[in-house]
Amino acid sequence: MNTLIDGAGLARALRTRLHEQVARLPRRPGLAVIVVGDNPASAVYVRNKIRACEEVGLMSEKIALPADISEQALLAQIDQLNARADIDGILVQLPLPAHIPVQSTIDHVAVAKDVDGLHTHNLGALLTGSPAVVPCTPAAVLALLDAIECPIRGREAVVIGASNVVGKPVALLLLQRGATVTVCNSKTTDLAAAARRADIVIAAAGRPGLITGAMLKPGSVVIDVGINRLADGKLAGDVDFASACTVAGRITPVPGGVGPMTVAMLVANTVAAAERTLGLPAIP
Ligand code: NAD
Repeated sequence: MNTLIDGAGLARALRTRLHEQVARLPRRPGLAVIVVGDNPASAVYVRNKIRACEEVGLMSEKIALPADISEQALLAQIDQLNARADIDGILVQLPLPAHIPVQSTIDHVAVAKDVDGLHTHNLGALLTGSPAVVPCTPAAVLALLDAIECPIRGREAVVIGASNVVGKPVALLLLQRGATVTVCNSKTTDLAAAARRADIVIAAAGRPGLITGAMLKPGSVVIDVGINRLADGKLAGDVDFASACTVAGRITPVPGGVGPMTVAMLVANTVAAAERTLGLPAIP
């Protein structure tokens, strides 16, 4: 069996399905991406998102705002997008400049247009088990596990990282699927012990090479969410791929694993938002 989980290929297949779904809609779904400042990593992510939208047949719009924009002016932009009938989804690209509060900005997006699933309302609905939208990266992690038919119920899972964007929602989704979940953070004293008992390891700490093969249970499934830019310009995950792939049963590469699937999930969430607005039944 191939050890590698082909996130790029699975994302391509999902985009093809979404393209067919969009072709049947009475109008093109629309996504607006707000970018504040000129973070180089954000520029790459936004370009990938816009490209995926075009490929699937969505209308997409990038709204680039200066790094010194006031909170009030940013919220006014969101108000305009909230009011537009041709925009089904609004994404505020993170990180935001330090003077802009993150959660209250996200919470300014209309709940129905929160295709990133990070609005307090939608994160709360995820906690109680009835989300209309699941955050894109956590949804991508679960989609990759499902694509390889990884059993979740009754399994030990460890999530390394506890952010609102990745770690916490992933942990909730795994818990809802019946896994016994350990969530680690930067204060965890024995990361290796937690990782070694896990059948499923989700690495989302933003620390290159944090998880090595010696920390893994043989045959475990490893999903590497980390995207870290090294000094030589190369991208690396949170998992030391060379040592981990000799121990893991299945493992995602970086790049080509969670990243492309995350973008495809954003498109899927936007299509689903459009279908809800149009009063159409959601296609699973
Ligand atoms: P974050 O900085 O908000 O959170 C990091 C979390 O990891 C925190 O809870 C922190 O306590 C924990 N952590 C840090 N060092 C640790 C350590 N040594 N041991 C255990 N836990 C530790 O980051 P984030 O937004 O959750 O992103 C995490 C990583 O995932 C980053 O590399 C980011 O670039 C990447 N990411 C990838 C995608 C994708 O599409 N693939 C999407 C979002 C984020």
